[in-house]
Amino acid sequence: MFKFKNTIILALLVWVQTVNAQHSFNSYLPDKAGYREHALDIINMRVEVSFKPEEGRVIGKVLHQYKALQDKVDSVFFDAPGIAISKITLNGANASFNLVKEGVWIKSNSAFNYPKTGTIVIDYEATPRKGIYFIGWNQPDHNENSPWAVRKQIWTQGQGIDNRHWIPMYDDMNDKFTTETVITFDSKYNVLSNGLLRKKTANKNNTTTWHYAMSKPHAGYLLMLAIGNYAVATEKSNTGVPLQHWYYPEFKKRMAPTYRYTAQMFSFMKEQTGVDYPWETYSQVMVQDFLYGAMENTTATIFGDFFNVDERAYLDRNYVSVNVHEFTHQWFGDYITARDGRDTWLQESFATFYPKEFSKITDGYDEWCWQRRQHQNSAIDAGKKDNFAVRHTSGGTARVYPKGAAVISMMAYVLGESQFKRVIKHYLQKHAYANVETNDLQQAIKDELGINLDWFFDQWIYRGGEPHYRVHYEDLTYNNGTKTTEIAIEQIHKTDETVRWFKMPIVIEVHYTDGTFDSVIETIEKPFEVVKIENKQKKQIAYVLFDPNSNVIKQVTFNKSFDELTWQAQRAKYMLDRYDAVVAMRNFHTSAKRNVLIKLLAEPTNNHAAIVNEIVNQLANDNHAESKEALTAITKHPKAGVRDNLFNKLNAADEFWKNAFARALADSSYDVVKTVVTKLCTAYPKEAYAWLGKTEKVFGMNNAVRIKWLELSVTYNNGDAAKHYAELEKYASPLYEFRTRINSYNALKTLNRFNQNIATSLLNGILATNSRLAGPSAELLNHFAIQQTYKDMAKNVYKQMELLPWQHEIITRYCNFLTN
Ligand SMILES: [Zn+2]
Repeated sequence: MFKFKNTIILALLVWVQTVNAQHSFNSYLPDKAGYREHALDIINMRVEVSFKPEEGRVIGKVLHQYKALQDKVDSVFFDAPGIAISKITLNGANASFNLVKEGVWIKSNSAFNYPKTGTIVIDYEATPRKGIYFIGWNQPDHNENSPWAVRKQIWTQGQGIDNRHWIPMYDDMNDKFTTETVITFDSKYNVLSNGLLRKKTANKNNTTTWHYAMSKPHAGYLLMLAIGNYAVATEKSNTGVPLQHWYYPEFKKRMAPTYRYTAQMFSFMKEQTGVDYPWETYSQVMVQDFLYGAMENTTATIFGDFFNVDERAYLDRNYVSVNVHEFTHQWFGDYITARDGRDTWLQESFATFYPKEFSKITDGYDEWCWQRRQHQNSAIDAGKKDNFAVRHTSGGTARVYPKGAAVISMMAYVLGESQFKRVIKHYLQKHAYANVETNDLQQAIKDELGINLDWFFDQWIYRGGEPHYRVHYEDLTYNNGTKTTEIAIEQIHKTDETVRWFKMPIVIEVHYTDGTFDSVIETIEKPFEVVKIENKQKKQIAYVLFDPNSNVIKQVTFNKSFDELTWQAQRAKYMLDRYDAVVAMRNFHTSAKRNVLIKLLAEPTNNHAAIVNEIVNQLANDNHAESKEALTAITKHPKAGVRDNLFNKLNAADEFWKNAFARALADSSYDVVKTVVTKLCTAYPKEAYAWLGKTEKVFGMNNAVRIKWLELSVTYNNGDAAKHYAELEKYASPLYEFRTRINSYNALKTLNRFNQNIATSLLNGILATNSRLAGPSAELLNHFAIQQTYKDMAKNVYKQMELLPWQHEIITRYCNFLTN
């Protein structure tokens, strides 16, 4: 799933011994999470369900086949908060059970003792607000010719512990079992669940029963359902696995850009991990109003339909990286599963690591470097707030996703890529279809390579913090005439109980003005070290690199002169080192750096978006003709994000740029169109009619361009204002998916537009199960309520709504002004 210093001169700390004493399973700070005990091993779970979608109601029967794990057990517990259980049978006979708030205790004096096996059947009904989501069933049928109009769907999201709200079950990561899902629903719709479709039976009452089954075990949170109006495109992966791409039938053209590269991901992951795709089939389905980016349910990934891009939107952002993320989870998460929440990094960090590896294939080596740097930066940013370890449930998404991914990159750097791959293969195969914890990975390194990497895990996984190095060098000539470059390295981060000095192998390079260089790799582990590199031929130093290509998570303070930065920006082999030199030039005046930056911009090797954007940012306000000429070339840069950044940074009111902006109204990127039409209308309001005329037909993802267009139209070009306001209000209503609604909310807020319809839409939005809609709906209603007339209007609308008690409770909790 998706969700990111002081000088010390001490004697060398004997931290290596400390590590040896403590390395075990300690995360050095108390953690609430831990292993959940359970008396039964569930072997198979069969869920039979039907629905009353308008009521959000689940009518179900679940069959658990189990094997008892312990002696003398008199009752077992199943998670089932809020579920009404009418009957339970144990091995065919009525069982006595006791309902409590969080679930149900089932009693027996004999059935749960080792090594007995048995079957528990539970009949139940539920109206859950978590785990399973009913979208659009109380709205008119999807009747707008817009991909963003509301659709009737039912879909699930089990992770973390939400399937228990619609299935009475043992809902934890540490028990894995096969599942069967048997769904009876209106034959008009299509139903997806985990595994293979074993049987599809048409019933007499216009319903169909779909029977899906998994042949290998997985964890209960990975069970899924998705129901809606879908067409299905099939193909084989490049390793022969049958694939299903579920899509909205009226937008067939979006299918290809949305699912781009899916078939190729199979051989990629096989090559990376040495392990074939572990399941029989792979399907992906887009759903509306999804709570996250996507979810890696076993064999059946769900993703938000905001990734359902057309070819133009694909240029701005697309599903590819998230697709690889969820696909990686089919191994890391589904095939091997963390034993409890503390080891989530074994899933999410790997699922963040492999999309970066895949980017090397789709976007090249520079992009790979850049993504790795972004992961490192996320770790550094999180470290400014606290020092929780990667393996700690309070570490937050920045630890579990990007920092862990950056740590895995360092593991590959320390072990070497081919040795790293051997470890991964051994680790996956050894724990196939089972649970893992961090120590299993440490052990795999020992077993496969005979290398003890406990020190690495201790500092990067069990402990928090990141190193901050202060580096400087001296170009020394000794009395005997020889020359040596002495590089002094100090670790200047704050150390405490959980953060220590860091030990890492680091490359140091001295580059000379003749283009040659000397290089050493040293294990830096002391708070202060000096590395000496002999300059045998007494060459002139151009620049020095500490950790070229940025292999290590770190901050570095290493001041360099403008000349050194220029050499580095022009000569360094790796994009990141050239980029860092350009960033360091921010501190220098434009007149000093203009020519250097313009030359760098012209180099094809500096084509990566990060370098181009950085140079654009430094030159955008420069009035010099040469800068303007250089930036004009960037208006045609192949990357949409670069063009968008350029137009964002340029001054549209400068007549020089007016034509470039006007031409960009026809840009292939929706983001660029939105940027330039906004800036042109603002800079030249009298000509708004012309700018708007050229972009009237562009809608963009989640109607973002259209909504901006409507906002600009009523602001700068009053004709048809009533019609345009009406269209904006429609986009804010439950007739549309949540991102369209939020885009419209932003426009209504800017325009300070409020009325009864908008109040109704916002109150409706507050009741959504999707917190990404409920939150902004409440925020905007509270914002409007600052104005007395709007407040009164909102209160009136609220009074007239027919709501259930729990709906009143939610609305007034979010907006307490309604009851005052
Ligand atoms: Zn994930």
